[in-house]
Amino acid sequence: MKKILLIGTGGTIASAPTGEGLAPALSAQQLMTRLPEMRELCETDSIQLLSLDSTDICPEHWQLIVRCIREHYRAYDGFVLTHGTDTMAYTAAALSYMIQNSPKPIVLTGAQRPIDFESTDSKANLTDAFLCACSDLPGVSIVFDHKVILGTRAKKTHSKSFSAFSSINHPELAVVRDGVLLRYIRQDCGLFPTFYDQLNPKVALMKLTPGADRELLDFLYARNDAVILESFGVGGVPQAGGFCESIAEWRERGRITVLTTQVENEGSDLGVYHVGHRLKNDLGVLEAYDMTTEAVLAKLMWILAYAKDPKEAARLLYTPVARDILWTVSR
Ligand code: ASP
Repeated sequence: MKKILLIGTGGTIASAPTGEGLAPALSAQQLMTRLPEMRELCETDSIQLLSLDSTDICPEHWQLIVRCIREHYRAYDGFVLTHGTDTMAYTAAALSYMIQNSPKPIVLTGAQRPIDFESTDSKANLTDAFLCACSDLPGVSIVFDHKVILGTRAKKTHSKSFSAFSSINHPELAVVRDGVLLRYIRQDCGLFPTFYDQLNPKVALMKLTPGADRELLDFLYARNDAVILESFGVGGVPQAGGFCESIAEWRERGRITVLTTQVENEGSDLGVYHVGHRLKNDLGVLEAYDMTTEAVLAKLMWILAYAKDPKEAARLLYTPVARDILWTVSR
């Protein structure tokens, strides 16, 4: 029988009403008591690592989770991490960079409704997650509403429906139908995982809005090593207002700029319009292409902890990890 470690971090799945809104209350062990039938599928142990609404998750928590998985990696066949849905896509992306080529499954799940509510998606999600953790499903994924989504490709796209997550610019890896895992794509893996425990959290994200203020961008550059600019459409910045000047000035001081798009599907293509062309060709701006904003943020935190210079950072950004970017290798 497979041995699976359940790591609890909080979220709605483990929450209960407090009189002032839902808050995490149940431990990972208590979650397991709600699913007695899991005993027939696998042996389980549980660790209550955090008890947070995922709104409070920070990069230090990702390091803690990675340390926990690393310490227990040899002893288990797979890992299930219960997590709030709000920032689950960021955590899944971060784990995908910090634990690469894992031959064992590392499955994140959670729920839109607490496990003790009469109408809940918790039990189905947790059951599917254990099924996946017991299967030959290498690497980091999110299992939610019967879908299996690559950790680097997930995005929360519904705030209330059970179908909370979508796979962006990449097909789902698999679906779970009546307890059977139907796999569409095999995720690549190695014989052994590579763990990275460092992150550089000095990465900021600015969403462009019509009439946005350059001073906001300067503020972010002053406090960070990289700024992700979530721009419009395939990408560009306003021609007036000093954006290009700001990018050029901070580039001289070693700051990295990456363009992403606010549009959920199909990614950036900075060279297409005049408003983007100069950024790419003259100002050294990098672009996300088909990577999600969540993945770019986590990838930059990982890259900037290890890269020696901006050139190496650019090379790493465009090097696929867990199928996070296909554009750069497909052209
Ligand atoms: N606010 C909750 C959280 O992210 C939402 C959820 O888990 O669905 O922790």
